[in-house]
Amino acid sequence: NPLLIGITGGIGSGKSTVAKIFSILGIPIYAADDRAKWLMANNPELKGKIQQAFGKESYTEDGNLNRGFLASTVFGDEEKTKIINNLVHPAVKADFENWASSQNSPYVLKEAALLFETGSYKELDKIITVSSPLRIRINRVLLRDPHRNEAQLNAIIDQQMSDEEKIQGSDFVVKNIDTKLLIPQVLQIHQKLIALANQGK
Ligand code: ATP
Repeated sequence: NPLLIGITGGIGSGKSTVAKIFSILGIPIYAADDRAKWLMANNPELKGKIQQAFGKESYTEDGNLNRGFLASTVFGDEEKTKIINNLVHPAVKADFENWASSQNSPYVLKEAALLFETGSYKELDKIITVSSPLRIRINRVLLRDPHRNEAQLNAIIDQQMSDEEKIQGSDFVVKNIDTKLLIPQVLQIHQKLIALANQGK
């Protein structure tokens, strides 16, 4: 089975961009945040649990996830955030492990915004954190998502773990500041992970 590697970073840090570079090297990427949304919309067991915890309104009449309702119910409420994470995380964990076991690669990447906050890091062999200065992150996201404003981004950032804390818990750090240094950093980590995977064989 492949080594299980996590890649995380705060909003706008560039984790999707860095994951894309790994993917060009042939490494399979599991986009945990997208996959979590898919499971919330499509996994009958998880849907049932979410309805039990947050009410029938969590889904629209045609069975789709009522994102607006859930976001307004959960965002900023620590207790409810914990409840939903505790429902979604085990489903994502099982789905990821099932996916990973079918990949033919020395290692795979699980890309997630909240790798530490959900406890997912404990199920991974190594962790990569993508780190960038706050100012750059905010400017990147404002450019990417023109519908967002700086106050919203600051509220999201306040809820996320700081880069310093993430780096403390990581095995590798990619500094996404100078774009031309991005690929060399990824190549170096890639080589180390390949070597590590070979050691395990
Ligand atoms: P989120 O948590 O919001 O999904 P993310 O950490 O995955 O963010 P990305 O989507 O990779 O971050 O990057 C945020 C934006 O910044 C994207 O539009 C991306 O193209 C751009 N970006 C990332 N890194 C760089 C860079 N080194 N140079 C220029 N643009 C960059």
